Amino acid sequence: MHNHLSRTLERLARVKRERILPRMHTRLGGVEVEAWTVADDGEPVSARHALGLARDTGRTAPGYSHFPLGAAWGKAWSTTWFRIRGKVSPQQPGPIDLVLDLGWFDHSVGGHCEGLIFTPDGAIVKGLHPRQSDVRLKGDGAVPGLLDADGAFLLYVEAAANPLLLGLPPFVVTEHGEKGAEEPFEQFRLRRAEIATFSPEIHALCNDLDVLGGLAAELSADEPRHWRLLRAIEEALDVYDEADAEAAARRARAILAPLLAAPAHASAHRITAVGHAHMDTAWLWPLRETVRKLARTVSNALALLDADPALVYAMSSAQHFSWLEEHYPELFARVRRHVEQGRFVPVGGMWVEADGVIPTGESMVRQLTYGKRYFISRFGREPREMWLPDSFGYSGVLPQLARRAGSRWFLTQKISWNDTTVFPHHSFWWEGIDGTRIFTHFPPAETYAAEVTARELRHAVATFKDKAIASHSLLPYGYGDGGGGPTREMAERLRRFADLEGAPRVTSRSPAEFFEEAEAELLDAGSLQPVYRGELYLELHRGTLTSQAAMKRHNRRCESLLRAAEYLSTAASVLRGAPYPREDLDEIWRTVLLHQFHDILPGTSIAWVHREARDTYRAIEERLHELIKVAGAALGGEQADPAGGVLPPFTVAKPPAAAVEVTDGDGTVLDDGLLRVVIGDDGHVTSLLDLRSGREVVPPGRRLNELQIFRDEPVRWDAWDVDRHVLRHPQVIDEVTSRRVIRGGRDAGVEVVRRVGTSTITLSMWLRAGTGRFETECVVDWQERERLLKVAVPARIMARTARFETQYGYVERPLLTNTAAEEAMFEAAMHRYVQVADGDFGLAIVNDSMYGADARADGDSTVVRLSLLRGARFPDPRADEGTHTSRWAVLPGADVPAAVEAAYAFNTPDLAGLPQVAPLVRLEVLTGHAIVDWVKQADDGSGDLVVRVYETQGGRATARLHCSEELGSGAVLWETDLLEREIGGDEDLPVAVGPPGSRRPVSEARLDLGPFQVATLRIAP
Ligand SMILES: [Zn+2]
Repeated sequence: MHNHLSRTLERLARVKRERILPRMHTRLGGVEVEAWTVADDGEPVSARHALGLARDTGRTAPGYSHFPLGAAWGKAWSTTWFRIRGKVSPQQPGPIDLVLDLGWFDHSVGGHCEGLIFTPDGAIVKGLHPRQSDVRLKGDGAVPGLLDADGAFLLYVEAAANPLLLGLPPFVVTEHGEKGAEEPFEQFRLRRAEIATFSPEIHALCNDLDVLGGLAAELSADEPRHWRLLRAIEEALDVYDEADAEAAARRARAILAPLLAAPAHASAHRITAVGHAHMDTAWLWPLRETVRKLARTVSNALALLDADPALVYAMSSAQHFSWLEEHYPELFARVRRHVEQGRFVPVGGMWVEADGVIPTGESMVRQLTYGKRYFISRFGREPREMWLPDSFGYSGVLPQLARRAGSRWFLTQKISWNDTTVFPHHSFWWEGIDGTRIFTHFPPAETYAAEVTARELRHAVATFKDKAIASHSLLPYGYGDGGGGPTREMAERLRRFADLEGAPRVTSRSPAEFFEEAEAELLDAGSLQPVYRGELYLELHRGTLTSQAAMKRHNRRCESLLRAAEYLSTAASVLRGAPYPREDLDEIWRTVLLHQFHDILPGTSIAWVHREARDTYRAIEERLHELIKVAGAALGGEQADPAGGVLPPFTVAKPPAAAVEVTDGDGTVLDDGLLRVVIGDDGHVTSLLDLRSGREVVPPGRRLNELQIFRDEPVRWDAWDVDRHVLRHPQVIDEVTSRRVIRGGRDAGVEVVRRVGTSTITLSMWLRAGTGRFETECVVDWQERERLLKVAVPARIMARTARFETQYGYVERPLLTNTAAEEAMFEAAMHRYVQVADGDFGLAIVNDSMYGADARADGDSTVVRLSLLRGARFPDPRADEGTHTSRWAVLPGADVPAAVEAAYAFNTPDLAGLPQVAPLVRLEVLTGHAIVDWVKQADDGSGDLVVRVYETQGGRATARLHCSEELGSGAVLWETDLLEREIGGDEDLPVAVGPPGSRRPVSEARLDLGPFQVATLRIAP
C-alpha cells in the first residue's frame, strides 16, 4: 500500500493550532476593565486592602481607573489589581467563561507573570497562568454566586509582573533579579479580556487528538497500532470542518472513539499519577512571591479536585502549608477538608525541600522533626516518605535519618540529571553509610513536573530499569518550579490513558498507596532485590557547594551557635532553673531550616533572595549570641571566667604549650615542638614537618596553601555548575603585595597579601602552639567574575580514597579516575573535614565554612583543593562580590577521631566570658569512638533532656553516659526516635540502649553503637 500518512502528524499540529483550538472559546462580548497599580514601595498589599475591605497600615488607598485593552500594565516585580465587570445574558446557554490574557508567553508557567482572581468579598476563585487563563462564569464547574440575578459579575485579579528570567536562550545575564533594575524591561500587556462560550466537544476533541497523536508519534512504525492511529487521525481531520466546528468535532470524535477504547496490554507497566506542583521556596523570585504562588497554585489544585473526584494532589514542605495558614486562612481551611478526604496529600515530612548534602546532621533531623510535628498537629497525619525530587545530591545518612524519623520511603528524580553515568535503578533499596536501608523510587519519566503526554509515559516505560522485578512507577504531574500544578487538560489525558493500548495503565492514587505496593513488589523479588550503597552523588551542579559563599558561612555559623545556645540554655534550665527559650529557639530553627531550601543555601537564587538571606542570617546570629549570653549569665552570675569558659562537649581545651619559635632567614621557620613549618619568601609553604612521626607532609617541589584561580565558564547552569573543563587549567596566584611575621599569644605565623585581577587576598598562616594545627585565615576582597578560587594542600600521602565528612559520619570517595563514575566526582561535598591516610599516617584538613573540594591521587602523593569562592553571573550577576573570611587548618598525623575533635573545636563559637561549670552530660567512651553531638530540651516541653550521640569512624563503639549530679540520682534514660518518641520493638533499626522500650537509671545505661549509628537518648531528671 502507498504510504499516505507520513505527514499526518504535521497536519494534525497545524489543524489543531489554527482551526480547532481557536474554536474552543467563541467571543460573546467585552468587559469593563479598571486597574490600580500598587503604589508606595510596589510590594504586594493584602487582598482586603486592594478590594477596599480594610486598610493596610501605611499604604496608599487603591484608586482604580479605566484600563484599555492592549495597554501595558506590568513593570518588573510590580503588582497591578484589575477590576473587571461584565454581564452574561441570562438567556445565553452555558458553559460561559471569562477569558484573560495578561500577556502570557507560550512557555514558562510559573516563570513570568501570573494572576489570582478574587470575588469582591475577598474569596479566592483561582489562579491564572499561560495554560490556565479562563474562569467559568456559568455552566458546569462554575463557582456558585459569581453572577447576580441579572447575570452581572464583578471580579478582581491580582496580577504579578514577575519578569521572565530563565528566558530563551537560558542563562542570559540579567539585572532583573533585583527590584528597580535600570536594564530595559518590556512590560506585560493585557491582551485579552472577554466573555466567551466554551465548547466541551471541541475541548474533548483536542484531548483525544493529543492522546492518540502523541501515542502515534511514540509507537514504532513496526507496530500495527501506529498505522491504525494515523489512519483514524487522518480520517478525523478529513471530517473536521471549522465552519461547523461543534458538529464536526462530534463526527471526528466518533471516528477516534474505537481507538480510545482499545485496552492496554495484559502486561502493561502501571503508573500512579499524582498531581503536584514543584514549588521552589525561593529561586527566580523572592520568598514573598512564593507565598502568593502558593495561593494561585493551591486554589487551582482545589478547583481541579472539586471538578474531578478521581484526582489526588500532593504537596510538600510544612513551611508552605504554614504560609497558607497564615496568609490565606480560608484556602487553608479548604485544604484541610481535602486532606481529611485523603485527596490533598501532605508529603515529605520536612520543613522545606532542603539541600540534601550541605546541612549538618542536626539540621536534617530538625527538617524532619519540625516538618512532621507540623503535619501531625495540623492534619493528624505523618508523611511516611521523604520527598526531595529536586535537591542536588543526597548524603548517605538520609536512609538512617528518614527511618529514625519514622519514614519508610524515599523519592527523588534528580539523579537522572547525571552528566556522566546512568543510575542503575528506579526502584531499589538505598543503603546508607551505616547500613540502614530505605525503599527508594526514582520516577522513570525523569521529571517532577510531567504534563501527562504519551511521550512521558512511553519514556517512563522505556527508561524504567527494574522491569524484570517491578511493574510499577510514580508520575508526579503538574507545572512546577514556580508552581502552576495540574490542569484540566492533564486530568482529561489521564482519563484517556487509564487503560489504553500502547500505553502504560495510569491510575490516580496517593504516593503512599504507590509506595506500599511498589515496596511489596520489590520484596517479592527475593534475592534479585537491587541494593545501592552509599551516597546518591549527583554528577552535576557541583558548583552549588561553593556559590554564594556567604550562605554557607552563615548557615554553618548558625548551626554552631544553635548547638551552643541549646546546650547552654538546657544547662541553665537544669542547673539553675532558668526558663528554656523554646519559642525563640523554635523560631530561629524554622528560619535556618527555611534558608536550607535547595536554591537558597546552594546559592542558586536571584540577588534579591541572597541579599535578604544575608540580612536575616545576621539578625538571627545576633539573637543567638544574646541567648548564649542570657544562659551564661544564668549559669554563672558573677563568676564568669574572663579567660574563656570551657563547656564540654563544645570546647577542646588547649593544652599548655611552649611558644612557637620563629627563625627568619631563607624563608620563615615556625616550630612549636610538634610541627615545623617553612614559609618561603614567596609566601608559599615549602615544608610542613610532623616532628612526632618525622613525616614531611609537603611533597618534594610542591607548595602547600597555593592559591589557584580558574576560568569558570560553565556550559550551562552558571551558579550551579563547576564543569570539568574549568579545573584543567589552574593559574597559580604568585604576586605578593606584602609579607610579614605575625604573633599572638604563644602562636606565631606569616601574613601574606596577594593580588589577583582587582581582588586582594590576605592569608594569615598560624602555627597554633601545642594543637598540632597549622591554621590559615583567609580574607578575600573578591571582585572577580566567572572565576573559581581554590587553595591546594598537596600531601606526601599515597591515599587511594579520602574521607569527606558528611552528616553524622563521612563518605569515602575514590581519589582515582579509573572509572567514569570515579572521574565524575571531580568536585564533591565535605562538611568540616577531609581526611586522607596511608599506612598508619593520616592528615586532616578542617574548615569553618566550606563545602566543595576536589581530591586526587598524584603519584605517591595526594592533592586536596578546597573551593573558596566563585563569581557566577546567573542568576545573580554580582554573586559573591565583596569581602569573605574563611579558615582552614592542616593537621598532620590526624586520624578520623582527631579530625572530628578538631572539627568541633574549630567550629565552636567563641564562648569567652562564659562561666566554667561542670558538664551536663559526659560520654565515657569504652571502645571505639563516639561523641555527644547535641544536647537540648525535649520538644514536648516536659523538661526532659535529649542527648544525640553518634559513632564517628565507621566502626563500633561502646560508651557510658554520665550526667551531672543536678539531674538527680533517679534520672531515667531511654532511647527514642528522632521525634523523641519511644522506639517501637518492631523496627529493624539497631538500638544503642536495647531492648526497645526499656528505661533504665542513667548510671546503668551502656551504649552500643554500630558504624555511624545515631542514637537519641531521652533523660527524665
Ligand atoms: Zn526545585
